[in-house]
Parts: sequence; C-alpha cells; structure tokens
Amino acid sequence: MRAQDCQDEIRQVLLSQEEIRERIAELAREIERDYAGKVPLLVGVLKGAVMVVSDLARELRMPLEMDWMAVSSYGSGTESTGVVRILKDLDTDLSGRDVLIVEDIIDSGLTLTWLTQNLASRGAASVEVCTLLRKPERLKTNLAVRYIGFDVPNEFVVGYGLDYDERYRNLRDVVVLHPAVFGADDV
Ligand code: 5GP
Repeated sequence: MRAQDCQDEIRQVLLSQEEIRERIAELAREIERDYAGKVPLLVGVLKGAVMVVSDLARELRMPLEMDWMAVSSYGSGTESTGVVRILKDLDTDLSGRDVLIVEDIIDSGLTLTWLTQNLASRGAASVEVCTLLRKPERLKTNLAVRYIGFDVPNEFVVGYGLDYDERYRNLRDVVVLHPAVFGADDV
C-alpha cells in the first residue's frame, strides 16, 4: 500500500520508501564489511521486522541464514517493562554463530536488552543489533546498537512492518497517523 492509498489517515510521512531503501543499502554495505568471511544468522523479531529483514537480506551480497522469534513484552498499555515471554523460539542452534538481531524499532530498548542477553547465553560467538528506527528520547537502557537506520521523534509510527492494531504493516513508507484514526473503529 502506498501513502496515497490512505492519505486521509496520515498526518505526516516521516520516511519515504525511497529513503528507507537507500538507508538499508548503506547498512548492508557496513554489514558486508563487518561480517566478511562469516555467515551471519539474521534473527528477525516478528512481526514488525519482517519488511526490514526481507529487504536487508536481499540487499546483502553475502551468504547468510535467517530465523525468526516472536516475543511479547509485558507492560501496561504501550509501556514495555523488560519482562519478556518467548511466543516462538528460534529453530537454529546458536553455538558459535554470529547473530544479528534485526528489529523494526527500539523504543525503551528493554525488549532488545533482554533478547540480546538471552541469545548471548546460548553460546553465540557474537550478538549484534540492527534496527531500522530508534526513538532516542525514550531509551531506558544503554544497549549498544551497532546498526541504526534512522532516529525518529517520540511519536507513534506505523508502516513498513509497524502496525496500529495489526493494520498499516503493508504501507511502504513510515508515517505518523492522523489522531482521528486512534479510537475510531472504522477508518
Ligand atoms: P521497547 O522494549 O524498545 O520499549 O519496545 C519495542 C517494541 O514496541 C517494538 O518492537 C514495537 O513492537 C513497539 N513499538 C514501540 N514504538 C512503536 C511505534 O512508534 N509504533 C509501533 N507500531 N510500534 C512501536
């Protein structure tokens, strides 16, 4: 879906599909350099990271493997607490693997801090993080994030994998929704 297909619901296009495509290509060049001679395991965090993993993996000119995890972060409302439950675990044995966790967005960073520690404890040779978006104002941990696509303001964003109530994941751009969308049943 393109922004013009739901333009009444959008307040602002933060990142166009072209900007995202270019930045993912830049990140891919960095990852190729850093992982030369290795076969990294890209771990996508469902469901939001599906688009990032899919575009990043196809942009990378090197052998790699992919696996997926689904986690739920306990919290009140939209606030994450860092207490995480695994809904779908990896199929891959991590012993000796170079793991690159791929995320859509880092908000407080609590979910990823937990995930990084969890995967490192399974014997991975290295665990790094790549996120398309980060909200620097909201960070509550000093998690080291190696690859960051864009810093975004502290607003609720959707598109390119990110949802509001499971919708807008298929939007090609990253946008801020019009306030009228929230709370309305049929937009
Ligand atoms: P954290 O543990 O970093 O606070 O939580 C990160 C998770 O919160 C993301 O993986 C995502 O699911 C959700 N999240 C945080 N900010 C946003 C946002 O602006 N839009 C959407 N759609 N999800 C968000």
